Amino acid sequence: MRIRHISAFPISFRVPEGQNVRLGIGRAVKRDAVLVKVETDEGLTGWGEAHHGRAPGAIARLIDTTLAELVTGMDALDVVGIWERVYRMQLASHGMGAAASMALSGLDMALWDIRGKATGWPLHRLLGGRAKPIKAYAGGITLGFQPAAALVEEAQGYVEQGYRALKLRVGDNPARDIARVTAVRAALGDDATILVDANTGYTLADARRAMPAFEEMGVDWLEEPFPPHDRRLYREAAGFARVPLAAGENHFTRFDFVPLIEDGAVGFIQPDLSKAGGITETLRIAAMASGWKLSLNPHTSLTGLNMAASVHLLASVDQPGFFEADLTRHNPFRDEMGRDAFKIDAEGCVMPLEFPGIGIEVNEAFLARYPLIDGPCYV
Ligand SMILES: [Mg+2]
Repeated sequence: MRIRHISAFPISFRVPEGQNVRLGIGRAVKRDAVLVKVETDEGLTGWGEAHHGRAPGAIARLIDTTLAELVTGMDALDVVGIWERVYRMQLASHGMGAAASMALSGLDMALWDIRGKATGWPLHRLLGGRAKPIKAYAGGITLGFQPAAALVEEAQGYVEQGYRALKLRVGDNPARDIARVTAVRAALGDDATILVDANTGYTLADARRAMPAFEEMGVDWLEEPFPPHDRRLYREAAGFARVPLAAGENHFTRFDFVPLIEDGAVGFIQPDLSKAGGITETLRIAAMASGWKLSLNPHTSLTGLNMAASVHLLASVDQPGFFEADLTRHNPFRDEMGRDAFKIDAEGCVMPLEFPGIGIEVNEAFLARYPLIDGPCYV
């Protein structure tokens, strides 16, 4: 089965007025994604998601031109060989740039979708797993910088839906962050799992101030206090309190995860399947993490494809952590993909889909309704 054609679809939507959640990287004003379609000479078509990298047009162009030319005609089932070819020709020689890793991620995900369709197996079975419940937390662009009362009300709404874990946004300033976490803990009680994410918004001094209070509030992880390359800061902050740090959504390929894990500063790793190098590479990262007894907690963004693929992968590894349920209020790329990527149950868990491949069919008329919008997604 040969790859006949590869095409990328950069798509965008504006966040409706009044729904602009604010977090450590700014206020969300639009959202982007890049979908990758791979067609084979046997008529099978696979779909994957490449993260937009805040440059969706550029990522799509890289896929449509360089990647397509490198791998068209190759055996569509040879996912390791295709990964290796793009790595040799693009990533190894010209740096492990984020763009190439994200483009490759979308291509790789589409190839696994094809493998599933070729065998008739859902992805989790293909990867050696089984349909089993995966615990989820309420995430996505939610629970942002807002007055404590509104935040508590939003958090309680997720608990009513079944969620037993949720992620609050911090990185505003330590005093306001601590006040918000305190209010939510008081309202939800000790049983709820509270995670916090600074989206790289902290200084070392901020982390020194906030982390002991987070420990007192029973916060289970502090995600991305600093930019991913500030390794020294992660190492230093790890000693500030008994709140484990988490990172990985801005780490690309296993070669970024080697130092992240070896530094010993993080207790949770969070590769994004649409960024870190796709399913092939996230399996390798999961194996490395397993050797260090670290659970896998994939970051999810932004379409049903990435979400469904993440649940499949979690159902296939020996150390599944949380699935990040994207509960962003307005997300047509989650809601209009033809099938729900996940459903929360009364125990706060999700199940992988049982259809061949990833299990999400992309309607191309849908894509045409969301043409690329240029400009920043956070301001
Ligand atoms: Mg995050």
